[in-house]
Amino acid sequence: MHELSICQSLMNQVERIALERNAQCVTSIIIGMGPLSGVEAELLKNAYPIISAGTIAEHAELIIEYLPILVKCDQCGSETAALPNKLVCKQCGDWRTTLVSGDELLLMSVELEKQKEMTTHALHKEALH
Ligand SMILES: [Zn+2]
Repeated sequence: MHELSICQSLMNQVERIALERNAQCVTSIIIGMGPLSGVEAELLKNAYPIISAGTIAEHAELIIEYLPILVKCDQCGSETAALPNKLVCKQCGDWRTTLVSGDELLLMSVELEKQKEMTTHALHKEALH
């Protein structure tokens, strides 16, 4: 499944951030998804518990934010919002447009939880599991 590998690389990124910031756990992950990213939000959400099991982000909430589709018109130069199946300029109606955004899949933010009382030793033990 395509979404499993996407979810895996997402998790690698989240774990790296959590490690860098000395987080105890990840509470939420926000992903920005364009309608043309080729990724199914539902499949990604289904893949998440499988991939995150046993990781620092096991109990994190996966939030998907949908990004708008924007096209730039090759004729009149305006940037307008478009529909996934109709990438035409809203200004002049021309179909000769260039996609500005709408095909991306981004890790927008990660919410972390830190516990100050935790010692380096405990953190180390945790990492060895
Ligand atoms: Zn136009």
